[in-house]
Amino acid sequence: MNIRLSDPWERYSRQILFHGIGLEGQKKLKASRVAVVGVGALGTVIANHLTRAGVGFIRLIDRDFVERSNLQRQMLFDESDADRLVPKAIAARDKLRAVNREVEIEAVVDHLSAENAEALLTDVEIILDGTDNFAVRLLINDVSVKHRIPWVHGAVVRARGIHAFFHPPKTPCYRCLFPQPPEGGGETCDTVGVIGPIVDIIASMEVTAALKWIVGAADRLPTSLVDIDLWENAHAAIDISGAKNANCPACGLGRYEFLDERRGEAISSVLCGRNAVQITPYGRRTLDLHAVRARWNALGHVRESPHLLRLEQEGLTLTLFRDGRLIVQGTDDVAHAERLYAEYVGR
Ligand SMILES: [Zn+2]
Repeated sequence: MNIRLSDPWERYSRQILFHGIGLEGQKKLKASRVAVVGVGALGTVIANHLTRAGVGFIRLIDRDFVERSNLQRQMLFDESDADRLVPKAIAARDKLRAVNREVEIEAVVDHLSAENAEALLTDVEIILDGTDNFAVRLLINDVSVKHRIPWVHGAVVRARGIHAFFHPPKTPCYRCLFPQPPEGGGETCDTVGVIGPIVDIIASMEVTAALKWIVGAADRLPTSLVDIDLWENAHAAIDISGAKNANCPACGLGRYEFLDERRGEAISSVLCGRNAVQITPYGRRTLDLHAVRARWNALGHVRESPHLLRLEQEGLTLTLFRDGRLIVQGTDDVAHAERLYAEYVGR
């Protein structure tokens, strides 16, 4: 293939040369839309590859802001992002704009919930899992089964990673394999740690599956759940093609329990391993952070960024986002966090 320097596809020339993609595949990538749920370790590597590969539209969804402990493995962030408390979705978008302006990147600073999941995940052709949270994965899975949208699963803790591709009803769904979130939420990077290299490997496998799906190489998609432990030099591929469970609530019985959880009140959740509680108010709202700051100034040390407000007081750190979400660090007492919400933010 002869690619001239002035060629609009020159940026992708090495990828176009690859037999699995070609110019036709590259055009499909440019026309494609994807969502990435979670822009932490996995999500930053995923978003980086997708942007450089020339995927046309990428929606980045993440509720959190950059902290210094993220920098060891979250490849798109730097010290200034942590110092300025930039939300991860926005920090990633801003970095990636400098990498490839041809890609449209939408940053959503929000927690994926039953309320917003269908709005955020059904106008894309594939969903990539960058989360560290079983409940969110089960929610993604409900959307996937209900709307027949494929998703790519990835999970990492310690030096171990798991990866699988789901496109029910052609494949089993995630819930066929993992029916319920484990008690206590399971091990997370916040409780048992993680090393960077396993993140890159699993995220890269997720991106490869997405590329295959988008360019129409579905016959190359993995039918196994891959389980790799870099520290133990272990690599297993477990065939899941026959793992469909006829009684699976989601793909067997058509009950979307995580998606249909209708909530009439604020949702409070303990953020596992972080000694923190997140309170998400019901319904959309936009707070005037500046007005809240005026009240908070009397309570303790306050910092303000365009996206959030942070109050340090009596060993607790309260981080308030414009959409009304509050993360209280320094406690796992939900009732206490809810009292603070009522008192400091209001209903
Ligand atoms: Zn299932």
